[in-house]
Amino acid sequence: MSSSVALRLPSIDGLLRHPACAPLAERYGRDSLLTGLRQLLDELRPGVLNGQLSAVEISPEVLAGRVGERLTQQQRSHVRRVFNLTGTVLHTNLGRALLPEEAIEAVQMAARYPLNLEFDLASGKRGDRDDLIEGLIRELTGAEAVTVVNNNAAAVLLTLNSLGARKEGIISRGELIEIGGAFRIPDIMARAGVRLHEVGTTNRTHARDYEAAISPRSGLIMRVHASNYSIEGFTARVPTAELAELAHRHGLPLLEDLGSGSLLDLTRWGLPAEPTVRQALLEGADIVTFSGDKLLGGPQAGLIVGRKELIAKIKKNPLKRALRVDKLTLAALEAVLGLYRDPDRLAERLPSLRLLTRPQADIYAQALRLRPLMAELLGERWQVSAVEALGMIGSGSQPVARLPSAALCMRPQVSKRLRGRCLLNLEAALRALPIPVLGRIDDDALWLDLRQLDDEPAWLGQLPHLQVDP
Ligand SMILES: *Cc1c(COP(=O)(O)O)cnc(C)c1O
Repeated sequence: MSSSVALRLPSIDGLLRHPACAPLAERYGRDSLLTGLRQLLDELRPGVLNGQLSAVEISPEVLAGRVGERLTQQQRSHVRRVFNLTGTVLHTNLGRALLPEEAIEAVQMAARYPLNLEFDLASGKRGDRDDLIEGLIRELTGAEAVTVVNNNAAAVLLTLNSLGARKEGIISRGELIEIGGAFRIPDIMARAGVRLHEVGTTNRTHARDYEAAISPRSGLIMRVHASNYSIEGFTARVPTAELAELAHRHGLPLLEDLGSGSLLDLTRWGLPAEPTVRQALLEGADIVTFSGDKLLGGPQAGLIVGRKELIAKIKKNPLKRALRVDKLTLAALEAVLGLYRDPDRLAERLPSLRLLTRPQADIYAQALRLRPLMAELLGERWQVSAVEALGMIGSGSQPVARLPSAALCMRPQVSKRLRGRCLLNLEAALRALPIPVLGRIDDDALWLDLRQLDDEPAWLGQLPHLQVDP
């Protein structure tokens, strides 16, 4: 070490009094500043002792700058808005459905003020939170009654436990599915205390298979919508009406887990057909369960609808209390359901439906418009094109159906060896933007599916921050 005079770190007290730190104390609070300074000094101490740091590097101005950066980082919310340009509209990892303005207003009201969550304003007596949406659900699905829980997994668990505990649940082998995030029908059944009685085969299950399984130990028959895969070819499945007739002949309830649970026939908007809740009930299912934040386009919730006496039994289960929804969810759900009363305007008002039905020509025109900008930003090394692309609904709805869409497709013009690295760099740079942009890498290119880019000004506004390593 050349210097004979050893450097010393400034004292905490000295730093706190320094003019460079005063604004930080004001902004983040004295305690946070103190903690930040202590941590930083502890980290720098070995470097100072080894003589590796210069006087400038440990000057109060530089230290204040570094602590300031850290405090800003820490203060930044961990829940961040992103641009979902993955091509999957109802993306579970990105929060699924976006709420309509009506629901956002309802959530704000419920957050800000006391409300009649479990209070009947007509009688002045205690009420039931499910009653707040029961009328709408009955009108929209034809169900006799409803109860709402935290998500559809909870709805399935609660229904199975309430109606089938210590008995056998009969289900086709072709419906023993796993849905992302460790939701497996056999495991849920076991946790619900229902003994799994599987019948038929993966591709074919007949009425006689169900019939042969029925015994005094049977508690229910279950049907699960094969959400995230499809069985094609030599297949057989008992129609719901026939299965319901069989169940009822033996005094058993038929549960149908519809998963995404559409309330209206989506083909009227040119989308792939999904069974509706009303249809499942009409065909004879006694209880139908479905999610609030998939095709319904509302908040995360699990809806259990169907026969009154079964719903009453489900509501009496103590698990219901553990799985119930909060006031914000209910407020949002009611507002979303309300929009369904006017199907003609639904596609304008419900964001998920609006995005799902956005015409490809529209998206393609947007891609053409944005292409030159992206090309200029990325420079010579990238070939940027506006292309047709195929997206997905997501969340297990119609896994094999594709939504005709359009994308900006970015291909690195480098040797094959460097391509992967280049793509990951660009992907990381897009993720590092103030509002992270998420696309997908496929076929040696990075794709930004523009179906969901409706806030173009915000997207354009932050693009100059894009820093791609050369
Ligand atoms: C998505 C899905 C579930 C789980 O619903 P969550 O709302 O995510 O809990 C259960 N069953 C089926 C058939 C599904 O598609």
